[in-house]
Amino acid sequence: CGVFGVWNATDAAALTALGLHALQHRGQEASGIVTLSEHDSDRGSFHQHRGLGLVGDIFGDAKVMAQLKGRCAVGHNRYATTGETALRNVQPLYADFEFGGLAVAHNGNLTNALALKRALVRRGCLFQSTTDSEVFVHLIAISLYSNVVDRLIDALKQVQGAYSLVALHNGALIGARDPLGVRPLVLGRIGPEQGGSFVLASETCALDIVGADFVRDIEPGEIVVINEDGLRSIRPFGRGQSRFCIFEYVYFARPDSVVEGTPVYQTRKRIGAELAQESPVEADVIVPVPDSGVPAAMGYATESGIPFELGIIRNHYVGRTFIEPTDQIRHLGVKLKHSANRAMIQGKRVILVDDSIVRGTTSRKIVEMVRQAGAQEVHMRISSPPTTHPCFYGIDTPERAKLLAANHDVEEMARIIGADSLAFISLDGMYRALGRPGRDGKNPGYCDACFTGDYAIPLTDLVAHPERE
Ligand code: 5GP
Ligand code: SF4
Ligand code: MG
Repeated sequence: CGVFGVWNATDAAALTALGLHALQHRGQEASGIVTLSEHDSDRGSFHQHRGLGLVGDIFGDAKVMAQLKGRCAVGHNRYATTGETALRNVQPLYADFEFGGLAVAHNGNLTNALALKRALVRRGCLFQSTTDSEVFVHLIAISLYSNVVDRLIDALKQVQGAYSLVALHNGALIGARDPLGVRPLVLGRIGPEQGGSFVLASETCALDIVGADFVRDIEPGEIVVINEDGLRSIRPFGRGQSRFCIFEYVYFARPDSVVEGTPVYQTRKRIGAELAQESPVEADVIVPVPDSGVPAAMGYATESGIPFELGIIRNHYVGRTFIEPTDQIRHLGVKLKHSANRAMIQGKRVILVDDSIVRGTTSRKIVEMVRQAGAQEVHMRISSPPTTHPCFYGIDTPERAKLLAANHDVEEMARIIGADSLAFISLDGMYRALGRPGRDGKNPGYCDACFTGDYAIPLTDLVAHPERE
């Protein structure tokens, strides 16, 4: 998912819609914006709009935008990892409680939401949605602390999982990141000459679009409270090791974003260069599987000296196939999405570069398509290690049984996708591309559980209900 928040700006809702548009790649299922007018009044009044679909379609209507009054706003793009696609699951969630209105937008996935929900329901809480994120709202509402920030801390101490949150309450914009900082969240500022607005966003690409300057990443375990008194930073969890999602660098984040000081685009190119060193093969042309394979393919081409060509053309008028919910649509989606550029492929030995193999559907189809376009040989190179484990922290990978790499070795996978050879970047190679000597098993510095099975946050619900995997 993508989250965005702005404090004290003219056109707060419009800025939020722009920010969400820049974060569209993080979720295409639904979006919502909640604004707060009179940020200096006691409780203020909230305005909300949510819809299913793309940001431009939901917030392209001037009437909708005009109704979202106020100088503070939070917004959310949904990419379902829990709960069905229904309007009631579209965030930001909003609730009225003892101290007034509260809007919350969450990116990530809680791993003990079921256990918490069961306990909350027993205490009389009435859940309105089926998203794990709603537990935040109830935990805050029933907490006995006397202000919302202490109640938030109380709630965060009970949840397990990955979260980057933005919230709006009583004239304050609040941001929080889980203790390991699995999902990203950055702070930006729109020049003091415009009144000193603050912005929180999943990625820096959303700061760029609204003309905000990047200030810093919100740190793992940090809570920031932005109000009339300025910005206050709270660290209820102290400072521990950080486990940012390494897959954000591989695939999820937008290439023009910079996360934790490391630019995504350059990292992807370096992974491609590492891959060329680790797994070279004689060929005539390097072809990316667009768009996700492009930067890695460029790095591979530069390192190997083999020419880079757009041998596959992507039709941009279909969404990311992976994110579409059913297997059948995903199946259809790949054909809708990619076509072979025959002139660049015919009679050639082709190296295809993509970012990941999950089920293997994309690779199998692309290899077949490239062969049909007359390729002499087809070699597949993947800029992440084999995805052997599901993600429980906010990326929607399928259950283990459906992960190709969980059930087959690389040789079998090559046969299944129909490639003459197949190679993945090594774990150490991926860490080298991030400027580390390799993976330090004691303190890797990143979450890489989908490649290693090293889950740094307990999987409480899964352990209690293994059948749900
Ligand atoms: P597959 O077709 O093997 O199931 O999925 C791999 C393809 O899905 C790659 O081209 C990758 O770019 C794309 N993809 C899109 N969204 C995701 C996601 O959330 N996770 C992963 N691992 N791959 C994704
Ligand atoms: Fe990211 Fe993989 Fe960890 Fe999920 S399991 S947070 S996708 S690195
Ligand atoms: Mg892809």
